[in-house]
Amino acid sequence: VARGEACARAADEGRLLLGAGASALDAVQRAVEVLEDEPLLNAGTGGALTEDGTLELDAAIMEGAQLRAGAVCALPPFRHPITIARAVLEEGRHVLYAGEGAAGFARAAGFAPARPDEMITQAARAHLANVVARRVPPRDRGTVGAVARDGQGRLAAATSTGGITGQRPGRVGDSPILGAGTYADDAWGAISCTGHGEGFMRMTLAARVLAELQAGRAPDTAAMQALLALEQRLHMRGGIIVAAPDGTFGWARTAPHMPCAWAIDDRAVGLP
Ligand code: ASP
Repeated sequence: VARGEACARAADEGRLLLGAGASALDAVQRAVEVLEDEPLLNAGTGGALTEDGTLELDAAIMEGAQLRAGAVCALPPFRHPITIARAVLEEGRHVLYAGEGAAGFARAAGFAPARPDEMITQAARAHLANVVARRVPPRDRGTVGAVARDGQGRLAAATSTGGITGQRPGRVGDSPILGAGTYADDAWGAISCTGHGEGFMRMTLAARVLAELQAGRAPDTAAMQALLALEQRLHMRGGIIVAAPDGTFGWARTAPHMPCAWAIDDRAVGLP
């Protein structure tokens, strides 16, 4: 319930920005910042820990008009990885920064590093202990994402995650990889994914959703087709949200849980 409420809050913040004339890019950034602050979700504060007990954060943001994008991966603790990804996009020199280089970019852009204990939660530590002791599988819930279309028809997508609990330090998932976990093109759609990143990268899942949209499928069907391919080929599951150029949107999941929320004009719609 709390995760769903965080989604509704994020959708509402995005809706308010869009209503005030902000871009889809601003809306997805703000929505993901809200979700990164929710300690129950696997992004920013409360993100999944590596096997060494450290927090390494991945995030990407992309806009569909000029295909500008920014991303960070294996980033040490900073409160809002998605805001740093946005700064990467705005600077425009490169698309993806990793690890210490990403931290260096962030510090130079004026972001203050967080103390690890400000962002590492007791629940994340307990989950890591359970995974290491093999009491639970390393599956995580709560990578966060947002997609939006603004009044000018521009699309944007953003995704942020701590990765997979117990991952080896330096492991990077699909979320910051364009065409795998995140993508936006005003002509076809904006896409954000969650699930086992290795599978999403190996099958370029976001690009597959794009291809389904290009073949004329509705957003929810496009997302489900890509997830079914993932299940058939690699026996992996996940969830995908999609916003389309015509203002329709959709989502699909083969994973058991994925709260999401949508807002259209004045209506905020929460979903299980
Ligand atoms: N896709 C994320 C990753 O592999 C994890 C997730 O969505 O649960 O890093």
